[in-house]
Amino acid sequence: MEESKPTNFIRSIIDEDLAAGRIQQVVTRFPPEPNGYLHIGHAKSIVLNFGIAQDYHGRCNLRFDDTNPAKEEEEFVAAIEHDVQWLGYQWDELRFASDYFEQLYTYAIELIEKGLAYVCELSAEQTRAYRGTLKEPGKNSPYRDRSVAENLDLFQRMRAGEFEDGSRVLRAKIDMASPNMNMRDPVLYRIRRGLIHHQTGDAWCLYPMYDFTHPISDALEGITHSLCTLEFEDHRPLYDWVLEHITIACHPRQIEFSRLNLQYTVMSKRKLTQLVDEGLVEGWDDPRMPTIAGLRRRGYTPASIREFCRRIGITKSDNSVEMELLESCIREELEVSAPRRMAVLRPLKLTLSNYPEDKVESLTVVNHPKREEMGTRALPFSREIYIDRHDFTEVAPNKKFKRLVTGGEVRLRYGYVVRCDEVIKNAAGEVVELIGSYDPQTLGKNPQGRKVKGVIHWVSAEHGLPAEIRVYDRLLSHPAPDSDKSVEDWKTHLNPRSLIRYTEARVEPALGEAESLARFQFEREGYFCRDSAATDSLVFNQVVALRDTWAKIAQVINPAP
Ligand code: ATP
Ligand code: MG
Repeated sequence: MEESKPTNFIRSIIDEDLAAGRIQQVVTRFPPEPNGYLHIGHAKSIVLNFGIAQDYHGRCNLRFDDTNPAKEEEEFVAAIEHDVQWLGYQWDELRFASDYFEQLYTYAIELIEKGLAYVCELSAEQTRAYRGTLKEPGKNSPYRDRSVAENLDLFQRMRAGEFEDGSRVLRAKIDMASPNMNMRDPVLYRIRRGLIHHQTGDAWCLYPMYDFTHPISDALEGITHSLCTLEFEDHRPLYDWVLEHITIACHPRQIEFSRLNLQYTVMSKRKLTQLVDEGLVEGWDDPRMPTIAGLRRRGYTPASIREFCRRIGITKSDNSVEMELLESCIREELEVSAPRRMAVLRPLKLTLSNYPEDKVESLTVVNHPKREEMGTRALPFSREIYIDRHDFTEVAPNKKFKRLVTGGEVRLRYGYVVRCDEVIKNAAGEVVELIGSYDPQTLGKNPQGRKVKGVIHWVSAEHGLPAEIRVYDRLLSHPAPDSDKSVEDWKTHLNPRSLIRYTEARVEPALGEAESLARFQFEREGYFCRDSAATDSLVFNQVVALRDTWAKIAQVINPAP
């Protein structure tokens, strides 16, 4: 797949900064909090940050923003590292914000000594009341004018564990009347005692806030452009304030872009955690999850996810992207790269009464209709075959029905033309088996004197392998489940048909050797991939359907010039 260099407003800013000599080399970072698995929204940020470093011969760090020990875990650190690498990127340096705890503490002391930070003892509730509202200025905390010496003493004792959680915080002394609420003496440090941090253990009970940690971590790493999502736009004045008031050489430029929202799913780690913890999905890598792990198990390739990120682009406008755009990226790739195979999801046996009982023919069939270099494989043909239930009906419902009917003919893909002569039903009147015949003159040839239009897929009953085939639909049945105000709980919108298991499926023998995550086109059914979790049975997950509904949408998003 073509991966041309993108253009966007952030790259334009970098071009200018390089041209003007403001920077010599661009340095970015991807800063996840290790409190869950990465999702496709993070991929947007990863492709942006690592992509820029790659294209500009710059550097990009992976930095864990690990300042909240209550929600973070080592498991997530390992999963995030793996996902970033799987997406095709390698960081220059691996850092943890917690690596800087000692330096951050020193910078906090500097602010205190400059009279720019103070220890506040207002309760959380009082703090809220003092902060004011968007329409009204806040009030100064009664602790705001403490002496430097008193602040230093209290701050040291906060670190030493003398005070309870919530009893004291360190706040920046900025402006309680600022129209920007983030500038009304924001909290820089809080006490969290008795927690074990995955990196620093029990060394600290005093933890820095994001708005203090982030600019300093960026500056310490020499980041030139600190790219973040739009909700941090209002935090930028604070980002700059922190760096302007401490002694630090570097002042990175924060630039915001819009978050990715994808329809029919949820994208916040908090909500994805709920799905996992409440057992509503199989885990973080459930193929229905918008996580990188879920997309990987679903059969997405790193290139298809990068291509998706390239297509959605980077802007400042909030939008919600159609799932079809993501799907079209993998579909287009698999159309070219996936070998063709045959699999019958709902088997119905068809016995060809005029085919010799112990005869087996080995048909040589191409792996890809347009790519000869992908070679051929052997496909066994025998007297008993399975076709899909959906490819048979006793009486054609209309003229468009080109599949098999009683007394009618159809071509078996790569094989013969066959006829259904007789239907066997059970006591309930349901069709359970078909008896038919084949025309021996029709292998690779049209039948004489008549036209057979329909072609269906099939698997030899004796040779086909039992498999489970899982077909997926959207996880949620509402395009924006978390913004629907008419329901109390977004989980009300969970789609009960998001997973359908075909447990009786039969697949052609060549699929028995499919490797974990190998991808195929199952003819007439869609693209499928061998499940990576079910190791001792044959399970295939649907990656995406065959039909391309994207063309339509593309016109709306990118109207023809
Ligand atoms: P969530 O709300 O899902 O937990 P987050 O922003 O809190 O997301 P972080 O781990 O803090 O998650 O994010 C790491 C980086 O990924 C940040 O720079 C963040 O802006 C970016 N990011 C997270 N979600 C998205 C998204 N939907 N689109 C684009 N970038 C995102
Ligand atoms: Mg976060």
